[in-house]
Amino acid sequence: MTNFNLEAITRANVKNMKPYSSARDEFENFTLNMIYLDANENPFSNGMNRYPDPQQKELKLIISDKNNVPKESILLGNGSDEVLDLVYRAFCEPNKDNIITLPPTYGMYSVLASVNAIENREVLLNEDFQPNVDAILNAVDENTKIIFLCSPNNPTGNSFTDSSVIKILNSFNGLVVLDEAYIDFSEDQSWLSVLNDFPNLIITQTLSKAYAMAGLRIGILYASKEIITVLNKIKPPYNINGLSQDTAVKKLLQSTMPAQVKKIISERKKLVELLETCEFVEKIYPSDANFILIKVDDANFRYNQFLENGVVVRNRSNQPLCENCLRISIGTKEENEQVFELIKSINNVQKSIIY
Ligand SMILES: *Cc1c(COP(=O)(O)O)cnc(C)c1O
Repeated sequence: MTNFNLEAITRANVKNMKPYSSARDEFENFTLNMIYLDANENPFSNGMNRYPDPQQKELKLIISDKNNVPKESILLGNGSDEVLDLVYRAFCEPNKDNIITLPPTYGMYSVLASVNAIENREVLLNEDFQPNVDAILNAVDENTKIIFLCSPNNPTGNSFTDSSVIKILNSFNGLVVLDEAYIDFSEDQSWLSVLNDFPNLIITQTLSKAYAMAGLRIGILYASKEIITVLNKIKPPYNINGLSQDTAVKKLLQSTMPAQVKKIISERKKLVELLETCEFVEKIYPSDANFILIKVDDANFRYNQFLENGVVVRNRSNQPLCENCLRISIGTKEENEQVFELIKSINNVQKSIIY
């Protein structure tokens, strides 16, 4: 078992600080018919003249019900980017501490490490895109505060094995952030059901992908109540704006997610079947996400072919282990019909003829 100690891992300035107490923290019961003269708001009602709920109670209640997690274990942020940044700021001492990431993976972990002046120790995934657990644990020293695991991983699309995640959780005395941005596209279960078993586990999810609300910027962090209390202390008071809170509540109640995810997965299967017949495609990596990673004969050449025909994909060939790889998100059926025609025509054009 991990010897995780929240007290020991929290930065001293965070432990010692007094959080900002907003007007809405001190008096928040809007259901009472009161006259609110406590926040210097403009009193003329227009649907957005009041500050939003700093604790997003209505939205958290829905997320808590959906996922069977107590609301005290939930923190919401302005995108996952914000909740991840809060984790750095609460637990990593600038110019002293380090974190571990497993490239090829999501770029924000490394950007946030740079912004916060935290060393990023990169331990490459294995050839099969699984964590190299021994190398990860070897990279840990007394200043290693966080290990970032992204499963299903972006850009590779695969999920990490349960045994590697459990070994890391049990052997590491710092925090393990498990990014589940793509979990709804996977047949694997979320790690949320065992959140209570691991005091050092932080799980992040987002409304940006399966839930179709990337424009609202809502990221979700789940952890022990104790970890959430620390993060709440340092979060900006009104970090989720009122329009985003209201819209997210409405959209979550509509429950369109499962049907859309089913369609996306069925389109993913069709795309894989087509790519399997293509000569320019050398490898199709298995995907638990709403995108697939493929290795092609010449990524820059194929990327430009797509682009010239009005289709923007992501060229990941500069990432380690991703030489000549393109990442293709799954669109609607109608979009895919056009993309399929394009892929067929691309496949008929020999690269050597064009050169
Ligand atoms: C897209 C994505 C996110 C989502 O970020 P938001 O800021 O919530 O939109 C998080 N993690 C990974 C790995 C992603 O690919």
